[in-house]
Amino acid sequence: MPFELKPSQAKNALSSTYGKNIAINPYQGCVFACEFCSAIKMNYFTGRVEEKWDATGWGEWIDYKTNLVELLHKEREKVRRSKIYFGNATDIYMPIERKLKLVPPILEFFLENPPLELEVQTRGTSRDVKRDIPLLQELSKKTSVLVSYSIHTDRDDVKKVFEPKAPSLIERKRGLKLYFEAGIETRLSCMPILPLNPENYAERFAKYITKWVWIASMNHKQLTQGLFRKHFPEWLDERVVEKAMKRTQKEFQKRGVDCRYRSIEPKAKRKRWVKRQSKIKNRKAKSAKNSNLPNNQPTLF
Ligand code: SF4
Repeated sequence: MPFELKPSQAKNALSSTYGKNIAINPYQGCVFACEFCSAIKMNYFTGRVEEKWDATGWGEWIDYKTNLVELLHKEREKVRRSKIYFGNATDIYMPIERKLKLVPPILEFFLENPPLELEVQTRGTSRDVKRDIPLLQELSKKTSVLVSYSIHTDRDDVKKVFEPKAPSLIERKRGLKLYFEAGIETRLSCMPILPLNPENYAERFAKYITKWVWIASMNHKQLTQGLFRKHFPEWLDERVVEKAMKRTQKEFQKRGVDCRYRSIEPKAKRKRWVKRQSKIKNRKAKSAKNSNLPNNQPTLF
């Protein structure tokens, strides 16, 4: 299928994400095409596939929004009272951004109208993230700015399986370092955690993190189960993942970096609880049904 790049008009610049947070995405679609990406559902929402999680063609199309700054002027008040995620459903530093330059006018708007907080999410190359660092430095003087860099492993073989089209790990380390050296707050986003060597991973990236590291397990397991089964079957066991998260946390803590992870345990507990509840419900339904049956037993009293 040939690559599809087309302009689009958004209805709103800002959209709601989890909780009360707000996001802005200058693009729909993403050429990095990570196998675990939760934005894959945009394939469905833009009418390209029939099923919600069908990944067919993901990474082969981009719709770019041409009217965001115009809309931002109308949504100025909302900007001022919001924590804004910049690029939670695309990567704002895809190579196409070099040509389209959609990000700088948005950052310039934020300079005039600073949000409560701005969080930039990326896994871009140093070449691509470099351009806007002066704007982010300026903005840091007016509001809280955090760059959340996505790096899920220290292993190139793992990266090749799950994010073959995304920038190399070396490039991402360079990008992260650029932000760090520019004095911009950084966070490492390891969501989802992929097979890694905790010690090596922490050693490679800890020195460039000013805030903290956030680790979580795979969210949409159905997307990657086949790849895990083929390449890293031991990682299908949640205990292995939990252990890796704990060890990674320890390695960062050893290096003086705060590291938090979302444990799998509560999820597993909840699953067991739901199962137990449904058994109880079934049992109750069965006994209610039995008590409604005509009673042929002789009455004693
Ligand atoms: S870079 Fe982010 S938005 Fe793009 S495919 Fe990967 S996870 Fe999805």
